[in-house]
Amino acid sequence: MKEDQNPFRLLPAVERVLNLPAVLPFCSRFGRATVAEWIRKILADMRNGQRGVAPKSREEAEFHVLHHLGEMASRAASERLQRVINGTGVIIHTNLGRAPLAAAAIEAMNAAAACTNLELDLSTGQRGRRGAAVERLCQELTGAEAALVVNNCAAATLLTLQTLAAGRRVIISRGQLIEIGGSFRLPDVFRQAGALLHEVGTTNRTRLADYEEAIGPETAALLRVHPSNYRITGFCESVSIADLAKLSKARQIPAIDDVGSGALYDLTSWGLPEEPVVSESLRSGADLVLFSGDKLLGGPQCGIIVGRANLIDKLRTNPLARALRIDKLTFAALQATLEIHRAGRAFEEIPVLMQLALGSDAIRQRAEHLVERLRQQCTSPVTFSVEPVGSASGGGSLAGKTIPSWAVAVSAANAEQVAECLRLGTPAVVTRLNQGRNLIDLRTVSVDDEEILCQRILESVT
Ligand SMILES: *Cc1c(COP(=O)(O)O)cnc(C)c1O
Repeated sequence: MKEDQNPFRLLPAVERVLNLPAVLPFCSRFGRATVAEWIRKILADMRNGQRGVAPKSREEAEFHVLHHLGEMASRAASERLQRVINGTGVIIHTNLGRAPLAAAAIEAMNAAAACTNLELDLSTGQRGRRGAAVERLCQELTGAEAALVVNNCAAATLLTLQTLAAGRRVIISRGQLIEIGGSFRLPDVFRQAGALLHEVGTTNRTRLADYEEAIGPETAALLRVHPSNYRITGFCESVSIADLAKLSKARQIPAIDDVGSGALYDLTSWGLPEEPVVSESLRSGADLVLFSGDKLLGGPQCGIIVGRANLIDKLRTNPLARALRIDKLTFAALQATLEIHRAGRAFEEIPVLMQLALGSDAIRQRAEHLVERLRQQCTSPVTFSVEPVGSASGGGSLAGKTIPSWAVAVSAANAEQVAECLRLGTPAVVTRLNQGRNLIDLRTVSVDDEEILCQRILESVT
């Protein structure tokens, strides 16, 4: 094809686009090399016919390139980690980073972000042990002899199994071989740790005698795992940690209890369903108890191991512990979160617990106010209403339980488009799509965010 017949001869050169005044802000935000790469890709796509019909003039060509560039820039911006308003009603939402932190925890992370006394004892000026103070807090709150904090509860399981049971057997009930969201499957963790899985009982029923008969010279531990994200109901039976611990004492092998969501105290008095409580498991005789920091504890991502000092020492000196250790920001956030628990202010300051305990009448009132304001301020053909919904705890805690709540429902012609607008603005808002409407459950939206949420909804429906 001769050059002047080529319908894409009107496409601008990369260098020319790069020097357009409209492209300068992109260059300063994303870097010239990245933007040049985007332009090259856009031009190639236009040549291949992947971006609409060929332009009819140089101006039109340039306009198209700039339009596509704007789209690529906003896509790149949306992929960045950023603040999100959670309108889904799922409190511990894995895709939204699990537990939202308390204000004091966020402040503590901020303060520790520069230099901090992570491994320095300020009273002596000598080297201090990383995490010592936070681990003491874990002991205080659970009544444990010792504690160790690692990257997450999966890491806690891996470290525990590898240290105490590599090349040996760990007995576990068939009903407890759990998968927690995709990449955490207990049999895989066993394999990685080099420990052998010794399954006993059946899916629905396991008795103490099943464990008793299975114990042999190659047995390294008894393990109980809390079925966090599912429930077996009906004809079922399992062994309590107290009975398991009694057996383990008699046979002199450790009992390990993976309680998962890590409730520090009984939550039933706040109207919440029963979850294993860390201190009760220890009191019942468990030698080690493992739990997550970012589920019901309401802190940063981490895995906490509490229990016997001699066992914790073994875990601490395993070289794997160094690979699984947490950083100063996590220690700072965890310390602040545990301090709130210790002061008895958890239900006033820790978002996970505050949101769990919110009464539905209060949420309904907030939703009604918000709908009122939206109706007054909105000029588009959109219907706003208050709808009953069910919030969920999420993150594999309080399985199967939904909590009555209220949502603001936004009914517009194109619900998907409204949802996208809400996600792509600042701050991003994530909703629940239901029968062509966007539902925003106010249980997971803080009161402080209602003003900006109102603005974001209005801008997304016009
Ligand atoms: C959530 C959970 C885990 C995994 O915890 P992470 O902190 O996500 O690694 C392990 N065991 C149980 C019982 C859990 O509930």
